[in-house]
Amino acid sequence: MAKVFYHNDIQEEVLQNKKVAVVGYGSQGHAHAQNLKESGFDVVVGLRKGKSWNKAEEDGMEVKEVAEAVAASDVVMVLLPDEHQPAVFEEHIKPNLKAGAALAFAHGFNVHFKQVVPPSDVDVFLVAPKGPGHLVRRTFEDGAGVPSLIGVEQDVTGEAKNIALAYAKGIGSGRAGVLETSFQEETETDLFGEQAVLCGGLSSLVKAGFETLTEAGYQPEVAYFECMHELKLIVDLMYEGGLEYMRYSISDTAQWGDFVSGPRVIDEDTKARMKDVLSDIQTGKFAKGWILENKVNRPEFNAINDMENKHQIEKVGRELRELMPFVKKPQSKEKDVVTH
Ligand code: NDP
Ligand code: MG
Ligand code: MG
Repeated sequence: MAKVFYHNDIQEEVLQNKKVAVVGYGSQGHAHAQNLKESGFDVVVGLRKGKSWNKAEEDGMEVKEVAEAVAASDVVMVLLPDEHQPAVFEEHIKPNLKAGAALAFAHGFNVHFKQVVPPSDVDVFLVAPKGPGHLVRRTFEDGAGVPSLIGVEQDVTGEAKNIALAYAKGIGSGRAGVLETSFQEETETDLFGEQAVLCGGLSSLVKAGFETLTEAGYQPEVAYFECMHELKLIVDLMYEGGLEYMRYSISDTAQWGDFVSGPRVIDEDTKARMKDVLSDIQTGKFAKGWILENKVNRPEFNAINDMENKHQIEKVGRELRELMPFVKKPQSKEKDVVTH
């Protein structure tokens, strides 16, 4: 089994006399900054003036312009949206990075696909929590944590891995497990997971199931409960005890249906297409498309997003959730979503 580092395996002294700049205060940023501070580290939040700036100040954080925060820090964690990182890096981060400092990321995309090229005199590592930022915060407050992957791309001080481990411990990941990876592995598996399984695969599966039932004349409300609402209950069981525990909990009829019909829906052809998706990630084809889409202000992203939000499963879901006050509403339209 791969080596997994836990809380007590990790020495935190390497990070103790260092100043940590958390650049960005969104989904991941607010969680890293607050968790690190409460773990006893010296944190400054790097931002531009605006909404996040005010929120970080209200949360009691020290806040500076990105350039100033970077210049004052020994570790700079970049938690801006991936598509904005290259421009902010060139303009505000790179010119102010101290030699021998560490540049850190929560996702390997920009470094792996060379959209950000770090100078050669800094450590470069990643601490990638395997969960949404709001859970990184909430689990920490509950005395638990979200697992993280760490990886070192550049080690000029000889301490990059230890600093990454201490950082991961500081955000609470030592309680859940910290696993070593590379920028390449983190980037490619993260993109594959969200495209083929967690986000893309799952939303397409849910919609296809819903459409199959409604097109056969069943009520959309029934189809919604069956194909979307119940999913959480099933996923919770898988999270707690794997497929075995989920199957133990469902009826034997459901389990038999799982065995005989699951492989008819997701079959060898599906897997072959998953391999195509993976190949597009590995060759940089997916990255190129996404980078270019951002350069032209996302016409396709926005059009698809509008169409998806009008899907019948979304309309009926909104109505039904209104009637279920116990279903937690999203705090805002800001990201609190699975995976990144
Ligand atoms: P968000 O979209 O939540 O980050 C938004 C933050 O970036 C806001 O504080 C915003 O401030 C700030 N920001 C945006 N543009 C600028 C700018 N030009 N100058 C200064 N600040 C700016 O990002 P995420 O937390 O989702 O993602 C951050 C990183 O973490 C990414 O690399 C992502 O891949 C990775 N990651 C994310 C996960 C997640 O759960 N979301 C999970 C694991 C990794 P303002 O209010 O001023 O706009
Ligand atoms: Mg992910
Ligand atoms: Mg991702």
